Amino acid sequence: MKRLVIGCHLSSSKGYLNMGQEALSIDGNTFQFFTRNPQGGSKAKPLDLEDINKYNQFAKEHEFGYIIAHAPYTMNLAGEENIRAFGKQMMKDDLYRLQYVYQAYYNFHPGSHKGLGEEIGIQNIIESLNEIITSNEGVMVLLETMAGKGNEIGRTFKEIRKIIDGVNFPSRFGVTIDTCHIHDGGYDLTHLDDVLSEFNNVVGIERLKAIHLNDSLNEREAHKDRHARIGEGKIGYDVLYQVTRHPLLKDLPFILETPNDLEGYAREIQMMRKEK
Ligand code: FE
Ligand code: FE
Ligand code: ZN
Repeated sequence: MKRLVIGCHLSSSKGYLNMGQEALSIDGNTFQFFTRNPQGGSKAKPLDLEDINKYNQFAKEHEFGYIIAHAPYTMNLAGEENIRAFGKQMMKDDLYRLQYVYQAYYNFHPGSHKGLGEEIGIQNIIESLNEIITSNEGVMVLLETMAGKGNEIGRTFKEIRKIIDGVNFPSRFGVTIDTCHIHDGGYDLTHLDDVLSEFNNVVGIERLKAIHLNDSLNEREAHKDRHARIGEGKIGYDVLYQVTRHPLLKDLPFILETPNDLEGYAREIQMMRKEK
């Protein structure tokens, strides 16, 4: 059997090679990081190709899977014009930088329509993405499924589908399922086959490229988005374990975004690697 690809969210402050080493130290073979300050974002660190090349070598040597660069939370391609302009600039720059990194995806939250309404929000996202993505070549961009907090777009698979339907280069787009988010959004992970068959019918299972593996502090359909440690939330360890073993999911990269320090992440990775 192929080895499970699993890791956690890490701080990017010391660069790619450091993240790779940190992931390996907890028996991870992938990781996620913010491309820039998650609450800010205008400034990114200078591009360090030497560090990236070292990481690329390291990742191949240790058989890492795809890693995930997460856009800052301040990116909102659904919102008003000035906030959209800021987001477009960040995504363009992030994608440019990421092209040098071995096996990397770019993950972002579709956005929040801020009262403009879902339809206009989705239209704004599509137009923005079409300005940013202008060819079939380049890093794949993943739309993350959301909990549906406030005016968040991307709670339903249908909304994700609408966005992908509107983009000019659909081959550049994939989807990340966040287990906490879809649970909070109303999907029942105890009926995983049904959830995945709905995903397949609406979006297409081949678009699914990554899983954010989180438990949730809240009941299903709470629309809250508060992550819990694996086994300490309302989804539970057994259901999340099944997620990592499902035939349609088992080869995807799994990223833990649970409230943990490195030791806690190491424990959760072991919990998930364990063969039962
Ligand atoms: Fe996210
Ligand atoms: Fe997530
Ligand atoms: Zn979340």
